[in-house]
Amino acid sequence: MVRTATRFITTLALAALAWPAAAQDYPTKAITLVVPFAAGGPTDAVARMIAQSMSTTLKQPVLVDNSGGAGGTIGATKAARANPDGYTLFLHHIGHATAPTLYRTLPYDAIKDFEPIGLVADVPMTIVSKPGWAPKDMKELIAYVKSNKDKVTYGNAGIGSASHLCGMLLMSAIQTDVTTVPYKGTAPAMNDLLGGQIDFMCDQTTNTTGQIKGGKIKAYAVTTAKRVPSLPNVPTAQEGGLPGFDLAVWHGLYAPKGTPKPVIDKVVAALQVAVKDPQIKARLEDLGSEPVSVAEATPDALRKKLASQIDLWAPIIKKAGVYAD
Ligand code: ASP
Repeated sequence: MVRTATRFITTLALAALAWPAAAQDYPTKAITLVVPFAAGGPTDAVARMIAQSMSTTLKQPVLVDNSGGAGGTIGATKAARANPDGYTLFLHHIGHATAPTLYRTLPYDAIKDFEPIGLVADVPMTIVSKPGWAPKDMKELIAYVKSNKDKVTYGNAGIGSASHLCGMLLMSAIQTDVTTVPYKGTAPAMNDLLGGQIDFMCDQTTNTTGQIKGGKIKAYAVTTAKRVPSLPNVPTAQEGGLPGFDLAVWHGLYAPKGTPKPVIDKVVAALQVAVKDPQIKARLEDLGSEPVSVAEATPDALRKKLASQIDLWAPIIKKAGVYAD
């Protein structure tokens, strides 16, 4: 008995000694970056830009794992349960702060099961429709949706996604409910929008800018209070008749809870290189977005943002009365 206890304590002591060494050498193999939405979509776009830069800095491949579904909660569950050794990281957006209120039960705790690494980028959204949809502008869209609510369809990436949140705000502002069609991400939703299988959606500029500029879909509004410089002709939702409408999608990088501090420090440093990268800045700017400042690409900034956003959205979601099991 005593011998077993001694052996156990020795094992623990050795593990404690082993951590700093492993953490010191980190990374010695490829890192997986879990993205909780489909490949080719807006969250994936931000993740891949960051992953490429971080691969260069950390001198190991950072491979994106698209685990989409259930508004981002499937990917979040996977990341929360991953080994906290630095070889699994997780990039999510505003949905990490809305899911705790939207879902009656979640298999993870959005705060306690993750180590924050830093904020990444803010991305505006756009209200867009299939080509040739009848409404000409935002005012007409509101009237059309109200009078055709039984046949209109709205695509989103599931409850907890940014596209769901935007739709929820829009529907509650105009006090109308329409049929929603959930996808594993807005990349497949965009395909159906282009093909006319769904009528409209609200999605990040990182996914819609090219299609809007190419005249492939109709743009009615940007969701931010100010117009987006890369889409100067698209009015804001406020200009279109939705007072107070203001939504931008913030992104955060996390690791599973328990990831050693020396590892987190290295990932933070790599993230800070990425947000300063002029190529990433230029690419995001073209897509109506911008990376955060270095001061925001820190665990503290993300920790505060997440906590304050959970508090901000909880009463709004509760008022809208939207829940999932
Ligand atoms: N745009 C999606 C969302 O609504 C996510 C994605 O496909 O990246 O959250």
